[in-house]
Amino acid sequence: MRLSSALAPVILLAATSSHATDNVILVTLDGVRIQELFGGMDPSLVDRPEDSGIYEPEVTRSRYWRENPGERREALMPFFWKTLAPMGVVLGNKAKGSSVTVGNRHWFSYPGYSEILTGRPQPDVTSNDIVRYPHRTVLEFARLKLDLENKDVAQLGSWDGFEAAAASRDDAFFMSGAYDSVSPELTTPEMDRIAGLRKRVMELWEESSNDVLTFELARAYLTEHRPRVMWLGLGQSDDWAHARRYDRLLDYLHLADELLKDLWDTVQSLDTHRDRTTLVLTTDHGRGLTPRDWAEHDFGIEGCQDIWIAVIGPETPDHGEMADTAAVRQSDIAATILKLLGLDYRELDPDAGPPIAAAFEDLSEERGAGAK
Ligand SMILES: [Zn+2]
Repeated sequence: MRLSSALAPVILLAATSSHATDNVILVTLDGVRIQELFGGMDPSLVDRPEDSGIYEPEVTRSRYWRENPGERREALMPFFWKTLAPMGVVLGNKAKGSSVTVGNRHWFSYPGYSEILTGRPQPDVTSNDIVRYPHRTVLEFARLKLDLENKDVAQLGSWDGFEAAAASRDDAFFMSGAYDSVSPELTTPEMDRIAGLRKRVMELWEESSNDVLTFELARAYLTEHRPRVMWLGLGQSDDWAHARRYDRLLDYLHLADELLKDLWDTVQSLDTHRDRTTLVLTTDHGRGLTPRDWAEHDFGIEGCQDIWIAVIGPETPDHGEMADTAAVRQSDIAATILKLLGLDYRELDPDAGPPIAAAFEDLSEERGAGAK
């Protein structure tokens, strides 16, 4: 069909303003320090078994110890560093002049997830109690603005706090707690089987379910329902650290890297998601810096404010690890997710943090633009 000359410019305009990202998947790894993400195995913990809790030093050393930080992080998370990172941006390596910090003054989980999802520290979120707060999140805002069905926005995670933090209302979209089955209208025999296993696998602490099974449940949901926006919350990194088992923490991060590969392969296998999905990866808080307090996190413990973020997708420049960027905050993640979906954060909250400039081309007026 020929276009009339009057219509052609309008269509051209619509095409240039369309977004390369149709879908966003937020993956959070609880309490993962910048030290491990950017540097792999921490040199200060290599020879201190009383502080690291490493049971078999030679085994852990052979798996993860290398002479320089670049080799160590690739030994720990090879898929993230060799495949994902080069397709997007990774922010937060303070040693290279890129800082991402938590804005809330708590430095533990719920306040961090609330800041990530609402775009600002929320003054009334001061504990990890499983409570739903009245603050609207990017997830429910995206469903409303994009006119999506309930099942098109999904939260799956291995802690009940994720479900509580996900939305201001119980019926905002599909949400599931640590040990929940998927509701009858959305489940499949595969999801039922995974959810059944998840109820029976005992975890280190009673409030968390198994991350691999949570991941498999999320992957089955993704394949079946093709959500436009999904939050996958994983938590065992925090559990192994609190248990002061640095060897298990490193093994877990290596496993999480495999899960990221499985997630990416699944995304690329779906016609609705291939090359049209952006992954946003981040953490809720850091942990202490010293051999004594690396296992802990709380306000006042130096290091807990330092976090990281990776944005991997079709409209993000492929710069990989960023150096010498202006400071980014945890509260900038919400606006970044909304911008990826073609939405304006100021409609959600005009005082929320702005989109992260480094995740987009040509955003010089936003936070994180240019050299610091
Ligand atoms: Zn913790």
